[in-house]
Amino acid sequence: MSKKHVFNAGPCLLPQVAIDRTIEALKDFSGTGVSLISISHRTKEWDAVMDECRALWRELLHIPDTHEVVFLGGGASLQFLYVAMNYLEKTAAYLDTGVWAHKALKEAQGIGEAYAIASSKDKNYTYIPKGFEIPADLDYLHITTNNTIYGTEIHEDMDCPVPLIADMSSDIMSRPVDVSKYDLIYGGAQKNVGPAGVIFAIIRKDSLGKVSRYIPTMLDYRTHIDKLSMFNTPPVFAIFVMKETLKWIKSIGGVEAIYEINQRKARTLYDEIDRNSLFVGTAEKEDRSLMNVCFVMAPGKEDLQDEFFAFAKERGMVGIKGHRSVGGFRASLYNACSQEDVDALVACMQEFESLKK
Ligand SMILES: *Cc1c(COP(=O)(O)O)cnc(C)c1O
Repeated sequence: MSKKHVFNAGPCLLPQVAIDRTIEALKDFSGTGVSLISISHRTKEWDAVMDECRALWRELLHIPDTHEVVFLGGGASLQFLYVAMNYLEKTAAYLDTGVWAHKALKEAQGIGEAYAIASSKDKNYTYIPKGFEIPADLDYLHITTNNTIYGTEIHEDMDCPVPLIADMSSDIMSRPVDVSKYDLIYGGAQKNVGPAGVIFAIIRKDSLGKVSRYIPTMLDYRTHIDKLSMFNTPPVFAIFVMKETLKWIKSIGGVEAIYEINQRKARTLYDEIDRNSLFVGTAEKEDRSLMNVCFVMAPGKEDLQDEFFAFAKERGMVGIKGHRSVGGFRASLYNACSQEDVDALVACMQEFESLKK
C-alpha cells in the first residue's frame, strides 16, 4: 500500500507512536496481562493513566491552579447542553460563526435566554465578526475558536468583560492558550488530541455553582471535578489514546513547538492556494484557520473539481473533500499531520496545474 496523506477533519490523524502504544496496551495493559478494554477502572494502574493524562493537560497548556480539567463522554455536542445547564441564569450571548456555534446556541435556547451577539452567516461563515459590543450583564459569551467546517479561526484569546466560554474542539493543543482568560474551554478529542469518545473540559472552579436550577448529577461539572472524572465508568480506551497523543506532543517540544510547525504547514498550503491559478481559498485571509484549510476551484475551473479529487486520490491524498455546506476542498492540518503531508498535497496541486495549462 502506498503512503497515505490523511487530511480528515475528524476523527483525525493521530501520531503513529500513540497508535503503536495503544496496540500494545490492547494486548497487555501496563503489565497486568489484561487488555486495556477489559481492565477495571478502579485499579492503581488505571489511576496512573488518569493522573498522567491530567498532568499532561496541565503542563502542556499551563493550566493555572484556578482551573481543573475533566474528561467525559457524550461528545462536544453534549457539552452544548452542559454549558447552558451550568452557566445560564439570565442571559447568554453566542458568537455565531458556523454550524457548531449555532448548534451550541440552539441548545442554550432550550434552557433559557440566549442570542447571537454577531453572526457571519450572511457570507456563509467565511469570516469572524468583529467589533461587536458585549453587554456587561451577560452570564457568559460563548465562542467557537476554530470553525472546522468553514476554515476560520479566532487567533487570539480575546479580552472579554464577561465570563468567556469556548468550544475549542478543533484547535485545542494547536497553539498556546491563555487559559486564565476563560471560565470554560471544552471540546471533543477527535479533532486534535485523540480518538472519538472523550471530551475535555477545562473549568474555572469558582465559576460553578452560580445558577439556581437543579442540575442533574451527570450534567453537573462539579460531580466530575469532585470525582476526578471517575463518577462513572470513564471511556478508558479514548482516554488512553489521548494520553499517548499528549505524550507525543510533549516529546516534540510541547504546544509552543507544535504551534511553530502548524504555522509553517498552514502557510505552505495557503501560499500554494494563493499562487495556483486553479484554486482559491474560501475564508477571509485574516481569519484563516491553521487547522482546516478550505478552498475551491477558481472561477471558470469548477468543472475540474472531480478530476482533481481523482488525481489527488491516486497520489495518496485522503479526506480532502470539503464539508457539503461549503463544497470544494478542505485539508485538515491537525497536529499529527506533517509538513511532508502538506508538501505532498502542494506538489499534487502543482502537478495538476501544469497538466491543465
Ligand atoms: C466536531 C465539532 C463539534 C461536535 O463534536 P462531537 O464530538 O461530534 O459532538 C463541536 N464543535 C466543533 C468546533 C467541532 O469541530
